[in-house]
Amino acid sequence: MEKELFAIFGNPVAHSLSPLMHNRAFWELGHPACYGRYLLEEGERLREKFLALGLKGANITVPHKEHAFRACDELDDFARQVGAVNTVVLQEGKLHGYNTDAPGFLRVVREMMAGGSILFLGAGGTAQSSAVMLKDAGYEVTILNRSAPRLEYFLKEGFRAYTWEDFPGGAYDLVVNMSSAGLKDESLPAPEKLLRSILEKAGGAVDVIYGKKTPFLRLAQAMGIRTRDGEAMLLYQGVIAFEIFTEGRYDAKEIEAAMREALGWGKDKQ
Ligand code: NDP
Repeated sequence: MEKELFAIFGNPVAHSLSPLMHNRAFWELGHPACYGRYLLEEGERLREKFLALGLKGANITVPHKEHAFRACDELDDFARQVGAVNTVVLQEGKLHGYNTDAPGFLRVVREMMAGGSILFLGAGGTAQSSAVMLKDAGYEVTILNRSAPRLEYFLKEGFRAYTWEDFPGGAYDLVVNMSSAGLKDESLPAPEKLLRSILEKAGGAVDVIYGKKTPFLRLAQAMGIRTRDGEAMLLYQGVIAFEIFTEGRYDAKEIEAAMREALGWGKDKQ
């Protein structure tokens, strides 16, 4: 059987752990495939590049998830609803688009609490899809963003959504950095004074960024709050993407075990 080819598209993409996770799972499960990375500067060229590279599937990361949404011929219902695609697979000559970030994040939250209130700091594509999925699962999600334009989507969908200027405050079970503040820089997702007043009353803090301890996580830890970084979300979205790539041929537990090894996780790490 000829090797199937997969890749992750993004800008930047060098830091991505997806090739490591997927290649390990392909190898452990004996699936003849190879997963690379592709630095894509122009998101409009995603479809053309995908086809030219002869790919069977791809993941798409910042900042091309909306381009990926537009590049697909077919979308699953959830991806269509949220307008962002992070997993694409070629089936019978057509590009099919999915969103695995949001179910991956839902699993992270479920492991922390069965229900409750969540404050998102940030209102980009990942926040959009995750907010919709969490709301459908019964969580109460509020959005706080640096600027107003991205809040429109959330207000239309019935969320409470604020900028730093009009935020009324409140106590939340979980506060999540859903922004890219801290990804390539050392910035906090909100002014420190405001953030401290939010974290003082918070039950937990999560950052979706992985691979580094962000200023947000450092602040939450210094305030004695339990924290989690973005690696579990990365793992869980990757397992779902792998199932899509291989059309349900492998057991999710085995995929996850291989990916956990790739990330250097012990068996018991959550
Ligand atoms: P977007 O580019 O769509 O959105 C960025 C958001 O961050 C906007 O709300 C923006 O505010 C805000 N923001 C950016 N810089 C700052 C800053 N300095 N201070 C305050 N707010 C800021 O990004 P995505 O939604 O695609 O991704 C968000 C994060 O999620 C990224 O860090 C990404 O790496 C991470 N991620 C992690 C995953 C995982 O598996 N762990 C999976 C998917 C994403 P404004 O509207 O004012 O511009």
